[in-house]
Amino acid sequence: MTALDLVAELPSLDAAELRRYGRHLVIPEVGPEGQRKLKAARVLLVGAGGLGSPLALYLAAAGVGRLGLVDFDRVEASNLQRQLLFGDGDVGREKVTAAVARLRDVNPHVHVEPHAVRLTATNALELLRDYDVVADGSDNFATRYLVNDACVLLGKPDVWGAVQRFEGQLAVFWAARGACYRCLFPEPPPPGAVPSCAEAGVLGVLPGIVGALQASEVLKLLLGIGEPAVGRLLTFDALRLRFRELAIKKSPSCPVCSPQPTQRGLIDYPELCGEGGAVAHASVDAEGNGVSETSTGGASFDGPWDGLEVEVADLKRWREEGRDLQLLDVRQPVEHSIAHIEGALLVPLPQLPARVGELDPARPVVVHCHHGPRSLRAAEWLRAQGFPRAASLAGGIDAWSVEVDPEVPRY
Ligand SMILES: [Zn+2]
Repeated sequence: MTALDLVAELPSLDAAELRRYGRHLVIPEVGPEGQRKLKAARVLLVGAGGLGSPLALYLAAAGVGRLGLVDFDRVEASNLQRQLLFGDGDVGREKVTAAVARLRDVNPHVHVEPHAVRLTATNALELLRDYDVVADGSDNFATRYLVNDACVLLGKPDVWGAVQRFEGQLAVFWAARGACYRCLFPEPPPPGAVPSCAEAGVLGVLPGIVGALQASEVLKLLLGIGEPAVGRLLTFDALRLRFRELAIKKSPSCPVCSPQPTQRGLIDYPELCGEGGAVAHASVDAEGNGVSETSTGGASFDGPWDGLEVEVADLKRWREEGRDLQLLDVRQPVEHSIAHIEGALLVPLPQLPARVGELDPARPVVVHCHHGPRSLRAAEWLRAQGFPRAASLAGGIDAWSVEVDPEVPRY
């Protein structure tokens, strides 16, 4: 796999580098030539946070010659629970400045390029152009779509990772070889439908695991070895210690990477993360569909609805008892066609604000998706919209297949 086409004349390694990279040099798939490829390589890390920390530390230690870091934030005390690039003394400093100092200590042979800017539709192509591989460790959809679209336009691989609470996801989006992010999710979710990392929380070690996997994918791409996660979406459930893999196909109607793209430039979406809570976004509806702002509710209601999640065994029992409830499926239509629970109303998550009128706030709503993260977002959003008895089905339709109805296919 030589598609990356690193510089034809590889730089040489001096005596200090040969000593430093000894454990790489003895691996046949890396060797001195692979190490020289790493030295010639240019990798851009978007986001110097939870995912960006292990990415930067491992790629610098591995000897990737040029590492770009894009982040406009400053280090906050609440970052230190997971962002191992920084220490207590860095609080208040510009992240990229603190990162440069740390990475210089990790490996002085590596050139680190700080970009203390917000990635926008105006600067993205310029910033990404000079790098061979881009690793996206950003925490918001606006940046995620920008990175994907710019990578498609520039023909570069996008090594993407995301984390929330106990769940992580990873894929290599590379339009020349397989699906891009928009093949999977053509449009971002509506503002307010997704809680930010700050609201949802994340187990500190989780970005360490997913970011290290991203670093491994970057190194494989640079070395041209192994099978990169192209056309594969890997999910990691830390609570169950379970990895799953979903095949993702290139979409013939993808707005950016299909033969007839409908989108030829970059789009600045409004910031969807890091600007306060989901509740603060709840009244925002770009379509003007009359989503009303209400209080969070949730304080006074009865029965099993005080938790945000319900178990599949409970749902099974309530259905058998003929309880009045609305079952809502927030997956994509293609997933619904693979497997669905009888009686569920399909409203893909991005359409929820526009179609929330199809639900009755006076009745309980059980939301499900594939494994639970999307339905959890939907349930939180519905509560903020005045559906006090909205809850997410823990484990999603997959748990339903395993524990209740084996006739429902798993995917
Ligand atoms: Zn695509």
